[in-house]
Amino acid sequence: SSAFDPQRWRADFPVLRRSVHGKPLVYFDNANTAQKPQAVVDAVDGYYREYTANVARAVHSLGEQATAAYEGARDKLARFLNVPSRDQLVLTSGTTQAINLVAYSYALPRLQPGDEILVTQMEHHANIVPWQLVAARSGASVKAAPISADGELLLDRFEAMLTPKVKLAAVAHVSNVIGTVNPVAEIARLCRARGIPLLVDGSQACPHQRVDVQALGCDFYAMTGHKLFGPTGTGALWAKREHLDAMPPFFGGGEMIRTVSFDGTVFADPPHKFEAGTPNIAGFIGLGAAIDYVENVGIAAIQAYEAELLAYATEALQSVPGLRLFGRARQRAAVMSFLIEGVHAHDVATLLDHEGVAVRSGHHCAHPLMQFFGVPATARASLAFYNTREEVDAFVRALDKVRRLLA
Ligand code: PMP
Repeated sequence: SSAFDPQRWRADFPVLRRSVHGKPLVYFDNANTAQKPQAVVDAVDGYYREYTANVARAVHSLGEQATAAYEGARDKLARFLNVPSRDQLVLTSGTTQAINLVAYSYALPRLQPGDEILVTQMEHHANIVPWQLVAARSGASVKAAPISADGELLLDRFEAMLTPKVKLAAVAHVSNVIGTVNPVAEIARLCRARGIPLLVDGSQACPHQRVDVQALGCDFYAMTGHKLFGPTGTGALWAKREHLDAMPPFFGGGEMIRTVSFDGTVFADPPHKFEAGTPNIAGFIGLGAAIDYVENVGIAAIQAYEAELLAYATEALQSVPGLRLFGRARQRAAVMSFLIEGVHAHDVATLLDHEGVAVRSGHHCAHPLMQFFGVPATARASLAFYNTREEVDAFVRALDKVRRLLA
C-alpha cells in the first residue's frame, strides 16, 4: 500500500467536513462534479473581493491584475495538458462547448452527404449529440464502434470502420459510466495513418491521470474544469494550430476581433478568435488554483492511490449479494456502475443518501451505453483522491442495508 495519505488532503475540502442526514458525508459522485479545495474557493473569492474587473480591455490596475490572473490560468492549464503553445488552448464553458465548437466550426464546413463521424458505443451525449446536429445539417451520419461485454472498445472493429467516408473520429479518453480508459495513443495512430482527425473527450481523464496531448497524438482534446476540482462553467479545447487557423469563429462579439467595420471584420488570432464576450473570469482564476493544487498533490500519486482504492472497492462490492457491476475493462479509472438485483437505481441512490453516501443514479448521459447493457439506469460510485477505504467500507455497509431493505 502506498504512502499516499488522503486524510492530509481531505482537510483542504470544506464540503467533506459536513454531514448528510446526520451521517458523515461520503461523496462518491466525483464524476458528476468534484469538490473544491479551499484554495479554489479563496481564489474565486479573492478576485471578487480585491480585483473585480474585465479582462483584455482595461489598462487600469484592476483590469491588468484580472487579465494576468485569467491568462495565467490558461498558462497553467496549457502546461498541465502539455499543450505545445498557450495560443492553442481555447477556454470554454466546459467539454460540451468545446465539442460543439469543433462540430460547428471544424466539422460542419467539411461534411458532405454520405460522410461519417465515428464515435463509440460508450460516449457521453456531449460526444454524440453535437455530431448528430451537424450530421443532420450536412447529410452525414454518426456511426458508433462497438464495445465488448467488459466495456472495452473493440479496436479491430473501430479500425475497420475507419473508412474514407469518416471525416472525424471522436472518442472518450475515460468513460464516465464504467471508467474504461481507452487506448487513445493507439486510436490516434490508426486515425493518423488514414488522415482522419481525432477528437478526444477528456472530461473524465484529467482528474485521474496525467494527460499529455502531444504524447496522445490526437487533433483535438476537450476537457472540463469542474471535474478537476475547479469551478463550474470552466473548460477548454486544445486543437492543433493548423486546425485553429482553418476554423472560422463560432461565436461572434467583443474580444474576438482585430477590427470591425461594416465592410468586413478582421478576427483576432487563436485562441481569442473563439472567445467572444466576457469570459468566466472568476471561474478560470479558480481553475488555475485547482491546477496548482492538483500539481502539488501530484497526479502520478493520485493515479497510483486511486488504482489501489478502485481495487479495494471492486472487491468489496463483489461481497454484496445480488450486485451486478458494469464494465470490467483492464484499464479503468475509479468509476463503478452497478445495480442490485430487484432494486431500481434511483431507490439505491435515495437510500444511500439517507446513509450519507452520495452516488449518482440514472443513465449518466449515456443512453446508447445503457441500451448496450440492456438497463434503463445504473447507480454509479465515482471516487477521487480524497476518498478513503473507510468510506468504501461505509458505502458497502450502506449498500448491504439497502439490499436487506428492498431486494
Ligand atoms: N463527456 C464526458 C465523458 C463527461 O463525463 C461529461 C460530464 N458528465 C461531459 C462530456 C460534459 O461535460 P460538461 O457538462 O462539463 O460540459
